[in-house]
Amino acid sequence: MAGEAQDDCLFCKIVGGKIPATVVRETETTVAFRDINPQAPTHVLVIPKVHHPDAVSLAVAEPAILADVVREAGEVAADEKLDSYRIVFNTGSGAGQTVFHAHAHVLGGRGMQWPPG
Ligand code: 5GP
Ligand code: ZN
Repeated sequence: MAGEAQDDCLFCKIVGGKIPATVVRETETTVAFRDINPQAPTHVLVIPKVHHPDAVSLAVAEPAILADVVREAGEVAADEKLDSYRIVFNTGSGAGQTVFHAHAHVLGGRGMQWPPG
């Protein structure tokens, strides 16, 4: 059922404590942890504890939790003292999504180019 933990999902395993992660923030509905392969001095992933395959699916099913994810992204940026930062939701494999459990990348601490690659 939508929202339920998936046995084969890496991020559900992190939520469940079955795979370790460097957690920087946690709320009732979200977990934020450092990306294992950082692309910037700050690279933190904010995920909902519930399983949805991408950010849009989360927005449709549980919009308040998507708002929690985005608010937590801002709290991560504040904790890391970032004036400017990027919040990225890669959606679909062609856009670089590799883990199909909704997550926001919070990237900062270096200059950012536009358009993105
Ligand atoms: P995506 O490519 O789906 O937008 O982002 C998935 C992110 O998860 C990647 O940036 C990747 O480095 C990160 N990642 C993959 N496996 C792990 C892991 O086991 N632990 C952590 N902390 N990050 C991971
Ligand atoms: Zn999951």
